[in-house]
Amino acid sequence: MRVYIVLLGPPGAGKGTQAKIISDALGLPHVSSGDIFRENLKNQTDLGALAKRYMDRGELVPDDVTVAMIRDRLTREDCGMGALLDGFPRTPVQAEVLDEMLVQLQGKVVAVPYINVPENVLVDRLGGRWTCQAQGHVYHEKHNPSKVPGVCDIDGSSLYQREDDKSETVKRRIRVYLEQTSPLIDFYRKQGKLIEIDGTQAIDRVSSGLLDALPRIEN
Ligand code: AMP
Repeated sequence: MRVYIVLLGPPGAGKGTQAKIISDALGLPHVSSGDIFRENLKNQTDLGALAKRYMDRGELVPDDVTVAMIRDRLTREDCGMGALLDGFPRTPVQAEVLDEMLVQLQGKVVAVPYINVPENVLVDRLGGRWTCQAQGHVYHEKHNPSKVPGVCDIDGSSLYQREDDKSETVKRRIRVYLEQTSPLIDFYRKQGKLIEIDGTQAIDRVSSGLLDALPRIEN
């Protein structure tokens, strides 16, 4: 059976950073809906152009587009054991669709780590966030600066500030999260899958806490 882990948390909770660590540790591919949209944007595809209209405003890309994109990604060969999902599902409707999709793929969501960070901390974090051009590695000018300013420690590419990490958009993204995504916390808690972790701790404390709490995955 394929196993899927859904990473939950508000924008700025450190999902992308933790997803990379967990995905390496568990040997499950990191599937980030936001990264796929950004990749399409970079490659100037039709999907990228459509997504940009919503992303720049901090709003959600319509479900039909997002679901088709995720379905395509999850049926690729590298997802044969399952995947670590970051940024999808983002609404209860998407969560229902995911469950249906996973029935077809003969898999299921086994655990849902929820990285909890209070709202005031999020605004501060997102404001100082810089992302690497090449692979999306994330830095923070105060809390996790790159060794050389403006340059990614890992692949040497230049860092940029995401359009949607700018102030007004950040506030809208947090509001959209509270209204549309946070109901998923209860959705998965009721299923006994939620693993809540304090996301204000240092990055390595969060990841070791998460890895300790996650079920063992045989592959
Ligand atoms: P993220 O990198 O996860 O913060 O995503 C960046 C942006 O991509 C979001 O603000 C949305 O505009 C869009 N996006 C990512 N995932 C989804 C999703 N599951 N449903 C709708 N829009 C999404």
